[in-house]
Amino acid sequence: MHKEPMNSDTPLPALDWPVLEPGWVWLCGAGPGDPGLLTLHALNALRQADVVIYDALVQEAILSWAPQAQHIYAGKRGGKPSAKQRDISLQLVDLAKEGKRVLRLKGGDPFVFGRGGEEAQTLVQHNVPVRIIPGISAGIGGLAYAGIPVTHRDVNQSVTFVTGHDQSGQTPSALDWTAISKGSQVIVIYMGMKHIAQITAKLVAAGRPLSEPVAVVTTATTPQQQVLETTLGTIVDDIAKAELEPPAIICVGKSVLMRQVLDWQGQANGDAPRNLDPLGRGRPAESA
Ligand code: SAH
Repeated sequence: MHKEPMNSDTPLPALDWPVLEPGWVWLCGAGPGDPGLLTLHALNALRQADVVIYDALVQEAILSWAPQAQHIYAGKRGGKPSAKQRDISLQLVDLAKEGKRVLRLKGGDPFVFGRGGEEAQTLVQHNVPVRIIPGISAGIGGLAYAGIPVTHRDVNQSVTFVTGHDQSGQTPSALDWTAISKGSQVIVIYMGMKHIAQITAKLVAAGRPLSEPVAVVTTATTPQQQVLETTLGTIVDDIAKAELEPPAIICVGKSVLMRQVLDWQGQANGDAPRNLDPLGRGRPAESA
């Protein structure tokens, strides 16, 4: 395959690219990890920013695409206390008012469990002009890297994204786990590791079988990605045994079985597909 590596001078493909003007904040998703999953709008922003304020989980390589910019870390990592949400939002306001071109870079998609809505609201309330650049969310792209289609015609016509934490750090009490359990064929859980025992207990109490397939995908789309295939009955023990650590996306539902045929990363490394028809449809996938 012919490869033309992109470097920092490689021009973006021809398009009428928006200009990041002084005094603006672009609130941008960085994708789940793999720098190649960044959007072109994000790259365009990185090349123009004076300041990049980034969260934990934003990869070094992505920041290196903004060598001209000041890089400010605004997440929780390495034991440092996390910056307060209010402080981050107000820092964005201050930088914009100083006339900086500000890029706020958040993991995944900024509007999916990322408080991007709050930050954007504060900016608008302070008359700071904002542009939103979506990103690939871990609950979709991270599962795809594990070979799990978040929807699949034989499995689900809907998918529910839930967070395993609420603002107090507890399992969200506002969530009706019984309704989710009964109504959602596939449940994708963000930030679920800490309370996984309570979450799985609630799902089982609401009628999901102990044998229900579950996948845990940690540091998805990075070279450190790990995938655990387990069930609702065994997940807690299996996470402990495998010593899995967050960040992780947890997927509950039969779509997890599709990994047996779609583990494309394993296949690229020479693994044979384990099962060409894991849902037992008994027909070629292309037939109607
Ligand atoms: N805005 C982000 C989510 C932020 S909440 C998005 O759209 O993806 C942070 C949670 O996202 C983590 O606790 C984890 O559940 C999930 N997450 C983010 N990146 C991940 C990754 N590379 N692998 C697995 N989970 C990830």
